[in-house]
Amino acid sequence: MVEHRIYNFNAGPAVLPLQVLEEIQANFLNFDHSGMSITEISHRSSYFDKVINDAVERAKRLLKLDERYHVLFLQGGASLQFAMVPMNFLKEKDSADYVNTGTWATKAIKEAKILKKNHKVVASSEDKDFSYIPKDIRFSNDAKYVHLTSNNTIKGTQYSKFPDTKGIPIVCDMSSDIFSRPLAMEKFGLIYAGAQKNLGPSGTCMVIIRQDMLDTENEDLPTMLKYSTHASKNSMYNTPPCFGIYTIDLVLKWIEMEIGGLEKMEEQNIKKADVLYDFMDSGNFYRPTAEKYSRSLMNVTFRLPTEDLEKQFISQAAEKGLGGLKGHRSVGGCRASIYNAASMESINALVQFMDLFEKENKK
Ligand SMILES: *Cc1c(COP(=O)(O)O)cnc(C)c1O
Repeated sequence: MVEHRIYNFNAGPAVLPLQVLEEIQANFLNFDHSGMSITEISHRSSYFDKVINDAVERAKRLLKLDERYHVLFLQGGASLQFAMVPMNFLKEKDSADYVNTGTWATKAIKEAKILKKNHKVVASSEDKDFSYIPKDIRFSNDAKYVHLTSNNTIKGTQYSKFPDTKGIPIVCDMSSDIFSRPLAMEKFGLIYAGAQKNLGPSGTCMVIIRQDMLDTENEDLPTMLKYSTHASKNSMYNTPPCFGIYTIDLVLKWIEMEIGGLEKMEEQNIKKADVLYDFMDSGNFYRPTAEKYSRSLMNVTFRLPTEDLEKQFISQAAEKGLGGLKGHRSVGGCRASIYNAASMESINALVQFMDLFEKENKK
């Protein structure tokens, strides 16, 4: 562990690769021999052109995107996408299917409702407190799109496989697991992700959109709320979130060059999550909250025997340099967010602490 840095298990903003942070630091005052920092450079300059084009190309290579897909960097977070998606793609007679797997999916559905767009919640796991991913979902034949949340950051569940939507494009909120594994892209018409979990700093939202979706966009929308505005200007219709895009570029470079791509990334993520889940399954002190087949590789949610022990666990862990283990305020309990950049070393340190805490506190 580098001096003064903790093992960071925060859900978002979250841990980034140390190597990326060091590269930002080393180049901060004089970016690419410009005599300026990246936060002082014109987004219309060749310096920044290089950065954004590099980020787009890396994203395309990593996800093996064909020429139909556009990679955009927008503002307003994933939360603005909850509204932009139905605004852009649902005309009067259209309807979309939604699957409700937790807090964020619920918020996406709420925006479709506010906009008075036809939509159907075709499956939900609310009956069991969102502890599982629904199976055997029956989608509508005529849905314009199917909206899914690939990883449920708060409830600790994740689709291990995406459902067969019979050719209906999936629109997917991948805020907390984008670039954590390879994707069969032909299923997806649009993917969006707030950067602050697995990609970079907050303030940037990555959107990957396929041309056939763009072609059906609603005309009568404010300029900034139309995907085509951003797609036709390479995300530079207005000033883009430059620092965020720069950091994302470095994170994608790290995945490509250091990790070796998304297959390798997924292998690492499975290994890390297995260490944690296997440890908890081997005893009965820590209780993972998600159904086994729905367990997230990114956000490991668990409970201890009592709320009082959970409080002690979180505070004693923090004293030992293990930070961010408190569950989301809406659900309580504990959560270890172990995104791409969380090292195996940090997982081992956590398990070691958990083992010790259990021995000291088990009745
Ligand atoms: C964090 C999160 C969001 C909200 O993202 P913002 O960028 O804060 O709007 C949406 N969806 C999921 C799955 C998230 O984890």
